[in-house]
Amino acid sequence: MKTIQGKRWRNWSQTCESIPEKILYPSSIEEITSIIKEASKQEKRIRVVGAGHSFTSLVKTDDWLISLDLLSGIEQLDEAASTVTILGGTRLFQLGEVLGQEGYSQENLGDINVQSIAGAISTGTHGTGLKFGNIPTQVVEIVIVTASGDVLTVSEEQNPQYFKACLISLGVLGIIVKVKLKIIKTLIYEYRSERKEYPLFEQQLECYINENRHFEFFLFPYSDCVQVKTMNITNRKPKGLFFHNLKNLIFENYLFFVLSEVCRVLPRSSQTISRISAKAVGTTTITAKSYEIFASPRLVKFREMEYCIPLHYFKPAIQEIRKCIEVKKHKVHFPIECRTVKADDIWFSPSYQRDSAYIAFHMYKGMPYEEYFQEMEAIMRKYEGRPHWGKMHSLGKKELYSCYPKLPDFQAIRYELDPQGIFLNDYIKKIIIDE
Ligand SMILES: Cc1cc2nc3c(=O)[nH]c(=O)nc-3n(C[C@H](O)[C@H](O)[C@H](O)COP(=O)(O)OP(=O)(O)OC[C@H]3O[C@@H](n4cnc5c(N)ncnc54)[C@H](O)[C@@H]3O)c2cc1C
Repeated sequence: MKTIQGKRWRNWSQTCESIPEKILYPSSIEEITSIIKEASKQEKRIRVVGAGHSFTSLVKTDDWLISLDLLSGIEQLDEAASTVTILGGTRLFQLGEVLGQEGYSQENLGDINVQSIAGAISTGTHGTGLKFGNIPTQVVEIVIVTASGDVLTVSEEQNPQYFKACLISLGVLGIIVKVKLKIIKTLIYEYRSERKEYPLFEQQLECYINENRHFEFFLFPYSDCVQVKTMNITNRKPKGLFFHNLKNLIFENYLFFVLSEVCRVLPRSSQTISRISAKAVGTTTITAKSYEIFASPRLVKFREMEYCIPLHYFKPAIQEIRKCIEVKKHKVHFPIECRTVKADDIWFSPSYQRDSAYIAFHMYKGMPYEEYFQEMEAIMRKYEGRPHWGKMHSLGKKELYSCYPKLPDFQAIRYELDPQGIFLNDYIKKIIIDE
């Protein structure tokens, strides 16, 4: 088995790093089982890493880090059942390409597609569109290797007592080695991005949410312009995306990097740069296959906090955010990303039992984010916000217990499956373990 000793590990945003004793790359379920048994014997802790795109210390460990990069790929596409079975380390773009060739896709995706399927599921990764739940709601069946080395298949039919706990489980119930997902026939979407004046946009917010299959918007600090993005089914033929992708790369990545560097060196310019960025939003309409259009490259490094609030608080929350930034003069130029997600019944889902609005705050790497995030977090908490598990937040056990009514049930399952705490690290202990 490929094993690397003493190599420094960093997450994508470089908000967390550690030097694990070793990083292991198993290529079979049997190898995973033997790693777990050996870890148990040697009293080592294990964390699993996907693509390292979470912003928090979920993956951080000084003991053993396991990557499932060599346990990836598609096992079976069942057209009759509209499901696909894939290995835990499969990246979302790999899945998209294979499904696309067969005329299928995932019903919804987030902004990027480099995550591993297991990482995306374990942290409740989501896209946008009120008809759709987050990515874990696409799961029909999941196979985990538990702390005892047992291989457990979990679904509504098999071991159903674990199903709603296993879907968003931060890597603490076991190692996800296989996932069966619902898929849909590939759709052709008309993607539209345009600039709107905020006051009129606010009046029309409910229409935007209800009348579009996928809808999101970006609030630009200090600006009255909003970027609105929609994706809806069309009968038109898909077009090549070369120029769209090139434009994205130049404007949303290279040019935005230069503007962000200006803000880092001259933070006072953030207001002006945010206004300029807002004014630069033009109208774009393209027709493309669904799996080709959801995700974009994100080359500019940032810190991110994202909160999920009940949908009915969307408008007052946005109004308060806009006002707070103006009054407190936060030096931020990154737009605030606003999306919607359907309610579900997954225990650790931020959208648990409520149709939700997700509001994400970003700060360019190298610029102070603490005060801005703190104040935005206070607003989100006022509106019953639950933090995204893969993004920055300052909540501890007490607050998380009040956010997640099923946390005690989750603890019971966690203790039953991993009494020794093999899958814990200090961060997980700090946020959820009731000792
Ligand atoms: C640029 C960028 C854009 C993003 N866009 C979005 C977005 O649009 N929507 C959204 O919701 N989020 C978004 N995120 C957050 C991201 O989707 C999540 O944090 C996700 O967890 C990243 O997946 P990963 O494979 O990198 O997981 P990692 O960060 O590597 O791991 C996340 C968690 O999953 C666990 N895990 C990983 N593999 C396994 C396994 N095989 N078995 C058990 N546990 C496992 C880890 O232990 C850890 O607890 C974005 C992040 C970045 C950096």
